[in-house]
Amino acid sequence: MSVTELKSCAVPVETELYQLLGVSVTATDDEIKKAYRRKAKEHHPDKNINDPEAGRKFQEMAAAYEILNDPQKRATYDAHGIDGLPGGGGGGPSMDDIFAQFFGGGGGGPTFGFDFGPDMHGGRRRGKGEDSIIPYDVTLEDLYNGKSVKMNMEKEVLCSQCKGSGARGNAKPKPCSTCDGKGWTPTKLRLPNGAYGASRAQCKDCKGAGEKLKEKERCKKCKGEKLVKEKTRQEIFIEKGMSDRQRIVLAGAGDQQPGIPAGDVIFILKAAAHESFERSGNDLLTHVTITLSEALLGFSRIILTHLDGRGVKLSSPPGKIIKAQDSIVLRGEGMPIYKRPDEKGDLYVIFDIEMPTEEWMKSIDLKALAAVLPPKRVDVDPQPEVVDVAKYEESDIVDFGEDDEDGWEDEDEDDELDSEPECRPQ
Ligand SMILES: [Zn+2]
Ligand SMILES: [Zn+2]
Repeated sequence: MSVTELKSCAVPVETELYQLLGVSVTATDDEIKKAYRRKAKEHHPDKNINDPEAGRKFQEMAAAYEILNDPQKRATYDAHGIDGLPGGGGGGPSMDDIFAQFFGGGGGGPTFGFDFGPDMHGGRRRGKGEDSIIPYDVTLEDLYNGKSVKMNMEKEVLCSQCKGSGARGNAKPKPCSTCDGKGWTPTKLRLPNGAYGASRAQCKDCKGAGEKLKEKERCKKCKGEKLVKEKTRQEIFIEKGMSDRQRIVLAGAGDQQPGIPAGDVIFILKAAAHESFERSGNDLLTHVTITLSEALLGFSRIILTHLDGRGVKLSSPPGKIIKAQDSIVLRGEGMPIYKRPDEKGDLYVIFDIEMPTEEWMKSIDLKALAAVLPPKRVDVDPQPEVVDVAKYEESDIVDFGEDDEDGWEDEDEDDELDSEPECRPQ
């Protein structure tokens, strides 16, 4: 393959599942998990006995969560909507099982074995092959400047020898004896109301195909697997202003499967934290250290090197005294706006003030310095009657409050449900 259709999906084609959970399309995994847990508690049928719709609502939320919680399914949903998912999002997990995983004991993380039913996996012909999700690490520089990345990939393609039949010559497969050619075997499925229903599991023997080839009738090249590995070269474009978690979709570039169109290759950008700049939307934040002399007397100099290597020169207004942690904004020096890269957000600068060193103090005339600086303070007024003399000891502020050994813990009602640290949405 030399050329691949390339489109980037910044905005999901559908947002219904996000709306169901009441989160934004850019919500983090943690936000989605929290939102789901809150909603699931609120709408659990046991707590809404008088609401005949409660069960359905709960199922919908569970299905929404199941998709958004899985990076691969979420990417597929964002790129293609609910129709892009196997089974079209139909069916649903047992609500008891879901609830047990989240709220019951059991231990372990919420590993969602939720399944759209055995028919959806392998056995039945689906609309499209599996998507390949590839996390791709990027720097803030990459997202600021844009970047084209070529990469070698190995994917499964239909065997050229047998053209995907898996057979040698004109050999025809025979119906599978394990499943009588049906491709599935009967199994029990637990229903939301706790009853058991009949369902189907993919036949293990023929992997759902319903037919098998004898050993000696299999294609030599692919050993009857119908597919072979092929190395390809892919190029992806990281556009200016793209964000963390953004997906770049190479439509149809995924593994091939006999009889159905290939799935997509979806790159999910993972932006590393930058040592100088912090990003929030289109804005950037950075710290600039100035000297005490600059804080008092002003400056006119290159204060920072931007993400494209450009210097940014700034002059402070005459007479302005800059205090530690004062902030200013440099308009138009933020991130390029996605799809409108000529426009940029803003850059916020917080000033840190570097005090002179003790070495420097030793080298100057302290009396002369004292004479030009504002005077020192005197004792507090009124003077207290009793005065103790304290000792000057340097400390580390992290030690503050660390002396109680029994260890205070937050009484969070969610503690038992969630052992992960609380994260604030940015
Ligand atoms: Zn073959
Ligand atoms: Zn079978």
